[in-house]
Amino acid sequence: MRDQDHNTFKQLLTEQLTELLGQADLTVRGLLDYSERSADLLDRATFESERGTMLRIRDRESKLIRKIQRALENLEDGNYGICEVCEKEIAIERLKARPVTTLCIRCKTKMEALER
Ligand SMILES: [Zn+2]
Repeated sequence: MRDQDHNTFKQLLTEQLTELLGQADLTVRGLLDYSERSADLLDRATFESERGTMLRIRDRESKLIRKIQRALENLEDGNYGICEVCEKEIAIERLKARPVTTLCIRCKTKMEALER
């Protein structure tokens, strides 16, 4: 991978991570607000379902955060953009569309075919 691409992805991933961490913070604060509000027990059911939604969002967020952190580590180690399965370089176009991917399009397609 060229230095220029390396920097582009580093910037892209760092920005995404900062944004996500900001959001995660908001989600946690939202949960705390709801806990306080639930004291009046008026809309307990609404609270429970909204809390469930928030936890699901948080779960998704934290998985993505871990993926981004791993991608950044790989960038530092020089392993970024290498397919985990076949160890070939992942196409830059694919990485641009999905910077956290760890599989090349061939392996990804194969894996999806197996899951079906
Ligand atoms: Zn592959």
